Amino acid sequence: MAEKLGVYICGGCDIGANIDVDALAAHAAGGKHSAVVTVAKSNPVLCSPEGKAMIEADIAENELDGVVCCACTPRAKWDVFKFGEKVQVERVALREQAIWSYQEDPQFPGQMEVIAKDYTNMGIAKLTNSVLPAPELPDAYKTVLVVGGGYTGLKAAENAAALGYSVILVEKEDALGGKAAGMYKSFPLGAPFGDRVQDIDLPAVIAAVEGNDKIQVITGSTVESLSGAPAQYKATIAGTEYEIGAVVMATGWVPGDTKFLAPLGYGSVKNVVTSAELEKMASNGGIKTADGKTPKSVAFIVDTTLLMEGIDYNACGDACAAPEDLPCKEDDESPVVEGEECETFVYETKESAKHLAYSSELTSLVALKQANYVRELAPDAVAYVVYDHMMVPGINEKYYQTAQDDPGVMLTKGTVTGVREAGSQVIISAKDTLLGADIELLADMVVVPTAIVPTTAIDPTMNFEYRQGPAFPDLELFDGFADSNYICFPYETRRTGVYAAGCVRQPMGLGLAEEDAAGAALKAIQCIESANRGVAVHPRSGDLSFPEFNFMRCTQCKRCTEECPFGALDDDEKGTPMPNPTRCRRCGTCMGACPERVISFANYNINQISAAIKEVQVPDTLEEGGPRVIVIACENDAIPALDMAAMRGKSWSPYVRFIPVRCLGSVNALWVADAISKGADGVMMLGCAYGDDYQCHFVKGSELCSRRKENIADSLGRLGVEPERVEQFEVSIDMYDKVPAMIDEFVTTITTNFGPNPFKGY
Ligand code: SF4
Ligand code: SF4
Repeated sequence: MAEKLGVYICGGCDIGANIDVDALAAHAAGGKHSAVVTVAKSNPVLCSPEGKAMIEADIAENELDGVVCCACTPRAKWDVFKFGEKVQVERVALREQAIWSYQEDPQFPGQMEVIAKDYTNMGIAKLTNSVLPAPELPDAYKTVLVVGGGYTGLKAAENAAALGYSVILVEKEDALGGKAAGMYKSFPLGAPFGDRVQDIDLPAVIAAVEGNDKIQVITGSTVESLSGAPAQYKATIAGTEYEIGAVVMATGWVPGDTKFLAPLGYGSVKNVVTSAELEKMASNGGIKTADGKTPKSVAFIVDTTLLMEGIDYNACGDACAAPEDLPCKEDDESPVVEGEECETFVYETKESAKHLAYSSELTSLVALKQANYVRELAPDAVAYVVYDHMMVPGINEKYYQTAQDDPGVMLTKGTVTGVREAGSQVIISAKDTLLGADIELLADMVVVPTAIVPTTAIDPTMNFEYRQGPAFPDLELFDGFADSNYICFPYETRRTGVYAAGCVRQPMGLGLAEEDAAGAALKAIQCIESANRGVAVHPRSGDLSFPEFNFMRCTQCKRCTEECPFGALDDDEKGTPMPNPTRCRRCGTCMGACPERVISFANYNINQISAAIKEVQVPDTLEEGGPRVIVIACENDAIPALDMAAMRGKSWSPYVRFIPVRCLGSVNALWVADAISKGADGVMMLGCAYGDDYQCHFVKGSELCSRRKENIADSLGRLGVEPERVEQFEVSIDMYDKVPAMIDEFVTTITTNFGPNPFKGY
């Protein structure tokens, strides 16, 4: 516990112009925390060299072990307010939460000082319930395991080795090269980006890896098991155990089941082939129709409308118990289907279509590349490309322009409405084309896209020896892809220490795969080095704390082991959790889950947040000073959104007090109970979006919180408190213009609909 505190009040950034900073310092020194507050001072500009020097002098003179800086948000000046490894720092965002966002209520003027006092007391309470975390320092293995010897894996191995790390590269086939070995050529991997195609020169890439003495290549093998934790993994490959620090997973993709391409004529119309089949033809010496002739025209479909519409029940050809006049069932809840076969078939159709749910960059580039193959291998032929969305971001626009400039390539936007056979040829019908009219295209051959299905969707891949099972969890949430946060943390999977790269992460061509390989290799190295220093990897990079368990009180309920988003907790035969600190991302979800409250972090724990909530001064009646609402806010999105709102001059009700949390998943029901029993009129929880478009940095935190909230609501109801006093709201970082109104609306709803909390005044 921090026991000798310095409390410093900044007078800059409008703070000193609006509140009496000396009086606030005197309040901190003389109030109920006086036993721990050794020094309390104000300073005109706390982040100035003079301000910082003042704090440093006080630390040296008084042997302070904690400093409360009442100034700006911790997201600003973080590099200034650091005072060495032995001094804990608590930042109180007076500027954003009390000064810039202040909204005067004529009924109770002068609330700014009240707010400032509350936050200062809360900061002191948090620090006095915090201890310096002691890092776990494992004996880190430094070898990077690269799984998959395709183009991405080869490049990842090369990158990790170039940075001085030993690499073990495992490939399941007998030869290296993966899918790239079966490719004829690539769209440009480097300048000039208008080239029709470029050679991949895979033999040179393979030779560079095989000739590198830091890389051990194991072919014809897979990872039989991966046990342990980052920096201390044991990987079993071909019966031998290897010590591994971190893993780059570059296991690539497999083509989606072609039966789902039936609406585009595949399987029933002669000369309809997939892009993967055309690639094979090109690399085996030429493009030929089913009759062995070189085509005079080849049409490429980059439109999945028909696939997404699904297959009509009565035309699907599969066993179907539905009467002929019943419509196609497109959702799982339809009552019309009898017979499991039909249900299964429709379900699978939808699942597979997800992999081609839209035209990706890769679908577009492959169609353009293969149109160029046609022009190269059958120079007298024309190529048609019918697309719904042509996606050629960045420099690839030049590639698109090359195709546009080629009189032998015709590009048109259009929605494909049908594909049918016409003798030895194929007719594509399309509407909404650039020509304006519905059209029919006659071609000797039609090429339909190949769905990219990540290997993780079909196989456990890493074979984790984790309590949560051998595969990556919740893959259906990510369409089978293991990458767990596309927006904020590319390469991240839900298994810390395993970083996805290439097409197992998302569909991509070789150029992007090369970048991915470098990125994932760096993440793997960062993970090893972070573990070696006992600190967390992203998003809490550098955090030294990890969950500690008071096993004496653990009831072995297993909630923590089941709910940890990252599989960081195993358990013994009785169900007692067995933490793996280097797998842990320090989100606190386990702390929120534990009904016995036996999980805590040195510098983030149940008592600390409870103590902070208890520092909020709640008037005994609404008439004595208005309502109070506790806002528990995620520090990843909601708090930055609030900071930005305050910076932009937005304001909100003076009756709210914010409690920043690592993730809504870490919110323990006790905190809500504390707030309500103290008389707070409402509790608002601000966290990330959840569901299919989730934004949570810890994947499931806000979703878990919303589920737990239902239990809290039940408990409140039993106590005679309206459950609606506790609500959760989704806030993303860019909602700074909306969140103030959300807060005001909630406060108004609580006060007008429910009035004072019945516990007020007790
Ligand atoms: S802090 Fe998060 S990652 Fe770590 S054990 Fe708890 S739930 Fe798992
Ligand atoms: S949630 Fe708490 S009580 Fe349950 S197993 Fe985990 S530590 Fe034990």
